[in-house]
Amino acid sequence: VHRNPAEPEFHQAVREVLESLGPVMSKHPEYADAKLIERVCEPERQIIFRVPWVDDSGVVHVNRGFRVEFNSALGPYKGGLRFDRSVSLGTVKFLGFEQIFKNSLTGLPIGGGKGGADFDPKGRSDGEIMRFCQSFMTELYRHLGEYTDVPAGDIGVGAREIGFLFGQYKRITNRYESGMITGKGLVWGGARVRTEATGYGTAYFVDEMLAATGGSLDGRAVVVSGSGNVAIYAIEKVHQLGGTVVACSDSSGYVVDHDGIDVELLRELKEVRRRRIDEYVEQRPTATFVPDGSVWDVPCQVALPCATQNELTEHGAKALVAGGVVAVAEGANMPCTREAVHVFRENGVAFGPGKAANAGGVATSALEMQQNASRDSWTFEHTEERLRAIMHDIHQACHETAEEYGRPGDYVLGANVAGFTRVAEAMSAFGVV
Ligand code: NDP
Repeated sequence: VHRNPAEPEFHQAVREVLESLGPVMSKHPEYADAKLIERVCEPERQIIFRVPWVDDSGVVHVNRGFRVEFNSALGPYKGGLRFDRSVSLGTVKFLGFEQIFKNSLTGLPIGGGKGGADFDPKGRSDGEIMRFCQSFMTELYRHLGEYTDVPAGDIGVGAREIGFLFGQYKRITNRYESGMITGKGLVWGGARVRTEATGYGTAYFVDEMLAATGGSLDGRAVVVSGSGNVAIYAIEKVHQLGGTVVACSDSSGYVVDHDGIDVELLRELKEVRRRRIDEYVEQRPTATFVPDGSVWDVPCQVALPCATQNELTEHGAKALVAGGVVAVAEGANMPCTREAVHVFRENGVAFGPGKAANAGGVATSALEMQQNASRDSWTFEHTEERLRAIMHDIHQACHETAEEYGRPGDYVLGANVAGFTRVAEAMSAFGVV
């Protein structure tokens, strides 16, 4: 704590992983001798930079940009960029740290990193967003590359921003280096299913969790928080797998629609027109909007927090348990507080941590890199099949590892231990570096 002051989210993420690793360290004393834990908690490199830009009325703004290149034992640094006013070094470090183990769990050759800026894109014009992205990339480009560091989107960074970022990289470097960023548009090197991948993967993962105890999503009432990229496609896939999403939210409140959330309407409102969620009920008179409430008050059997970190607290977890929840899977990164996870554990609720449940996004980014490297483009069906197989394998790895370590059904332990083990093996092979 004294070494990384004022980074509570980073401390939270590290603590959660370290709490799982005791049995691994006893089994491998050589890891302790090589100070593997100390090394894995220290980013390989942290870049902090000034991002000056001019708004539409000629006013100059200065934001702070970050890229934390955390661990490259398994491949080039890989992880998204977040543009949100709340972004600080501690946020980026927590996300980058989680990313190391998530990327390891995918079984694909990608290291862990994360970045972003304390820039608030809400209410900004396309021109302002473009100038911000160009200024951001003008500094960051020198640290990126398909063999070095490969960013992607996250909160506040979608296809529009990736386009501006890639355009500026291409201009500065004079290289059409498709593999330097993922989440690209389909006509300029993007991969099918990348947009849907995190949400789809989360739905697949929770379906696997339910299957492990003889159930499935079919016929279940599901609550999803958020209504951004992850939430929209989690809702779509839950419906395809036979569940019904009865509520979703944004930062202004939540909507309840017992007929099942209309994904096309939600996508049109949030993805295309960038509106608030209360407009949903204007077009669905049977739905209701609850301003400022907690979406976890809506009774359901399955909950998928897909908005942001620490959005599901002890209070929310207790409400979910009272409402009959049997499984929770994190579509967002660390959306459940420690106390919430404790409530789930005490009440026998199956809990899938983000580094396993939302790994489908980065896995499909790695498939995008594969396609870029071979100058190929796969069909939707083939890519989705790959995604489904990867989510199955991640579930299997977590499940089997938890059993091997005497904690059946503990996906937190399973994900942390399975993710750490691959990284540790690679780091050990490289010596003290
Ligand atoms: P988006 O920006 O597309 O969506 C975020 C959504 O969460 C928005 O609907 C936003 O509402 C809502 N939200 C934010 N804060 C709150 C809150 N306190 N309460 C309720 N809703 C809130 O981001 P993504 O969907 O891409 O990312 C969501 C989460 O998933 C993040 O934790 C991210 O790190 C994680 N993730 C994303 C991946 C991806 O591929 N995109 C991959 C793996 C993880 P509003 O519109 O009002 O701001």
